[in-house]
Amino acid sequence: MPFDLASRLAERRAADLHRQRPLLESPQGPDVVVDGRAMLAFCSNDYLGLANHPEVIAALRAGAERWGAGGGASHLVIGHSGPHHELELALAEFTGRPRALLFSTGYMANLGAVTALVGKGGSVLEDRLNHASLLDAGLLSGARFSRYLHNDVASLAARLEKAEGDTLVVTDGVFSMDGDLADLPTLCAKAREQGAWVMVDDAHGFGPLGATGGGIVEHFGLGLEDVPVLVGTLGKAFGTAGAFVAGSEELIETLIQFARPYIYTTSQPPAVACATLKSLQLLQKESWRREHLNGLVRRFREGAAEIGLSLMDSPTPIQPILVGDSARALRLAALLRERGILVGAIRPPTVPAGSARLRVTFSASHSEAQLELLLQALSESWNILAKEGRTDA
Ligand SMILES: *Cc1c(COP(=O)(O)O)cnc(C)c1O
Repeated sequence: MPFDLASRLAERRAADLHRQRPLLESPQGPDVVVDGRAMLAFCSNDYLGLANHPEVIAALRAGAERWGAGGGASHLVIGHSGPHHELELALAEFTGRPRALLFSTGYMANLGAVTALVGKGGSVLEDRLNHASLLDAGLLSGARFSRYLHNDVASLAARLEKAEGDTLVVTDGVFSMDGDLADLPTLCAKAREQGAWVMVDDAHGFGPLGATGGGIVEHFGLGLEDVPVLVGTLGKAFGTAGAFVAGSEELIETLIQFARPYIYTTSQPPAVACATLKSLQLLQKESWRREHLNGLVRRFREGAAEIGLSLMDSPTPIQPILVGDSARALRLAALLRERGILVGAIRPPTVPAGSARLRVTFSASHSEAQLELLLQALSESWNILAKEGRTDA
């Protein structure tokens, strides 16, 4: 039967893989109203608590008064306005790269950068745990596409040996579902040795990592020669929307000429760029946000170890609790929800089969008291799961 959507949906439900969208009826923040109920949330990527910051909101409002509501056209026609340009200059300075280019979303920045750089005759090598947008970009590019074992330089080296043509090595900076860091010093050295370029998508590193929030490249002290293509997104720690690619003059000019997801889309509303200029200032200057966040992460890892939860090797605000089975992950999330705590259950295909998890994330706007509430609820819920015979599958 053509288009048998009903059975596809039924199969998805039967496998505990059906997804639902919680309806948020409040701004981002620890205290939310979801599906009509007040909850304490640990699942946003608003790591620094800037999405609902009064100064960022004021900048957005003032931006709308001055520049209107919409971008109006693509950047190459008449949609590239003052705030977009000013933000690009600020992001270039922030990343210590000659130029930066603003995209409307991170998904599009990744599609645009990969497809503009490599195609038929070239090669793309990606970490197998990369974000879906990077994997899609590699496939769309038409280049030879291969995935190496997670963070494994030997596995990368074997593929670099066989790679043909211009070769792009692509990795998340902070892995979005695991929270661990790419071993960039080692990966970049190997890539350079073989004449390949490295592209890092640091959607989750900008903000939390580095002395001034400059992300994984600041954390490891890596320059343009190590990471020629650096991607950041603005919807996470920046608290706004959009994304950027930073790199050489030639790289950015190449993207403007050849990156189709850049060329054929409307620019983001200029007021959003005004808001991001403000959040960039806060992200750089207010290092107390990073310090507080690190304190929460340390305390959480101690408390979770006492409960006996299995955490992943993550130093970042992404602290997944590995559960394994999708049904058990859903059950644990439901037990937490009964206790007023909202955490996302992440299941295949977002993560590999058999590695369903609760993805706990922290924000600088969480208090220590809220963290203790989370630990208390986790302890109770984990005990109930154990009694149900479900913690040792
Ligand atoms: C969220 C995310 C993206 C996509 O960014 P958007 O701006 O939300 O489209 C890309 N890469 C990674 C690693 C992400 O986590």
